[in-house]
Formats: sequence, structure tokens, C-alpha cells
Amino acid sequence: MSSSSPLLDTLGRPLGDLRVSVTDRCNFRCRYCMPRERFGKQHAFLPRAELLTFEELSRVVGLLRGSLRKVRLTGGEPLLRKDLADFVAMLAQGSGPAIALTTNGVLLPQFAEALARAGLERLTVSLDALDPAVFAAITDADYGVADVLSGIEAAARAGFQRLKINCVVRRGLNESQILPLARRFHGSGHVLRFIEYMDVGSTNGWRPEQVVSAAEIVDCIDRELPLEPLERSQPSDVAARYRYRDGGGELGVIASMTKPFCGDCSRLRLSADGQLFTCLFATVGTDLRAPLRAGASDEELSRLLRRVWENRADRYSEQRQQQLLQPKRKLEMSYIGG
Ligand code: SAM
Repeated sequence: MSSSSPLLDTLGRPLGDLRVSVTDRCNFRCRYCMPRERFGKQHAFLPRAELLTFEELSRVVGLLRGSLRKVRLTGGEPLLRKDLADFVAMLAQGSGPAIALTTNGVLLPQFAEALARAGLERLTVSLDALDPAVFAAITDADYGVADVLSGIEAAARAGFQRLKINCVVRRGLNESQILPLARRFHGSGHVLRFIEYMDVGSTNGWRPEQVVSAAEIVDCIDRELPLEPLERSQPSDVAARYRYRDGGGELGVIASMTKPFCGDCSRLRLSADGQLFTCLFATVGTDLRAPLRAGASDEELSRLLRRVWENRADRYSEQRQQQLLQPKRKLEMSYIGG
């Protein structure tokens, strides 16, 4: 697909980003994402044969190359997928979209160098708390804050000097962590970003009163570490940007609930088993794996990809805000890719 004619959906939004979930497994059991009661020992994760192979994924990325600015690898926990750095190297060959990765960070001491060598350009680490007890209450995992911080340090040593550190804020759980996180990453060169807690999936019992708004978060930080707004770097960027007035670097807030950004959304998602979704809140996908495995030609696959994007009309978050949508069963973030 050529870069000279951008692929536009029914609302005139160009395709720009692909999020690839490389696994539905995770080594955390965050209460708001993969609660243990639902994702315990009895849970049937996708069998290996159902996951798209790296060759299949590379082929899809190759077909979309002309349209994409960025490919983000996510999951589940993407670093649980064996030989992920080899896949990054496959994607990073030649000129093409920037390759990005979102991770909980605890396996970075093992993999950061290989990822950097493979050509990974951007790295985002999720970290919802610095207080060990709060972190444990959220993640319900065998890892602690120190493991994530070691991952961040390993990434910096491997050359990732400007990480994004993402924190989802849920009222009653970790709003106490906003200031400690801001203090910790102020002046570090990394960009801390706070994300409003979203109504993704149906297992986390999301309630509107649990959302801490981006405006509240900015106020809370600004009182101690004064901030000033910056321009967004791209219209499709999800984060509103701020900088510390004292030169301590940049901060972002993602107002997914209070200021939805569907109008500029340029993201296509591919689940680990090869379903294409045109929205994080989509309930129905388009199967790409069946034609891939039935021997479809590049032309046939390109036509399918083009049709999926050109038929796209999703604007779930805006409609939710206007109360046009009734709650319905939604897909889990660990499946569709966070
Ligand atoms: N395992 C990787 C990680 O921890 O970053 C990638 C997948 S995880 C699903 C991606 C991000 O989605 C995490 O930062 C997580 O906090 C966020 N997330 C999960 N459920 C969310 C929700 N309901 N609202 C906002 N963010 C959510």
C-alpha cells in the first residue's frame, strides 16, 4: 500500500499505527486487567499453533508498511514471547515504521540489550506505583517495584535514554502514587505519563467514580512541581504534553475518558491469534489468520486490510461520553493488546 495515498476510514482518519499483540499471556495479574479469579490456572490461553508466527506477522507489517508510522508490540506481556528480539530485527530491516514496545519491564534486564541491538526504537514501561504494598495490591505478581526499576535502569544502559513510563490511575487504589512517581522521574530524562482508567473489558468491574481525571492529575503535580502545557507532537498523539517549569523534563496525561480522542485515532490492532480490530473497544474483529494460512496472495491480503480500514467507523469513546452506547460485553485488553 503506497505512502503517497493514505488509507482513510469512513471518517477520513488515516491509518498510521499498528498495535500487535504477540501473546495473551502475562507474568502479572493486575487486578484491573487480568484478575487472578478470571485468569488463574484454569484459564485457557491461546495454544501456540493459534498465534501468528513472526513470519506471518512480518508479512502483514510488510503489506501495511507504506501506511504505517509506527508498529507497537504489546500483549499480554510481549517479552514472554520467545525470541521477541529476533522478531524486532525482522521488522526493523530497511526503512519503515518505527518499532515500539510496551512492557511491564521486569524482563528488561534480560532482554534490553538484545532489543536495542535488534533496532527497537521506542520503549514504554508500565508502572502504577512506587510504594511496594500498593504495587503488590495492583499487580498481584511474583515481582516487585525493584524489578521494574531494574528493568528501567537496564533499558537506559542499553541506550533507551528517554523511556515512556505509563501509570494508570484508579481512584482508591493508587492516586497516592501520582506525586511520588512525578518526583522520581522529574529530571530523569524519561517521560512519565498518567492514563485515565478506562472501561476496557468486562472482568474488572470498572465504575466511573474510579476514574481520576487528567485535569486532577495535572493539578496535583502542578501544585508541587509547576507545569506548563506543550503542543502535541502529532494530532494522533494520545497524550497531552506538559513540561516542568524548572527544566525537569516532560510529563504526559492521557485523558481517554474525559477527553476522548477518537477523531484523530489512527490505530489498527492485531490480536495474537490474527484478528484485526479497528478500536480498543471493538467486539468483532476480522480474521486475518485464515486467509494467511489458506495461501492468500499479497494482493488478496492487501485488499482485505484496505477494506477493514476503509469500512472503519468506530468512535466508541466519544459515543460513550455522549451516552449513545449501552454497556455490552467487551474484549479484554490482554487479548486485544494494550
Ligand atoms: N504487559 C505490558 C505492560 O504491562 O505494559 C503490555 C500490555 S498492558 C495490557 C498495556 C497497558 O494497558 C498497561 O500500561 C496497563 O496498565 C494498561 N491498561 C490495562 N487495563 C487498563 C484500563 N482498564 N485502563 C487503562 N489502561 C489499562
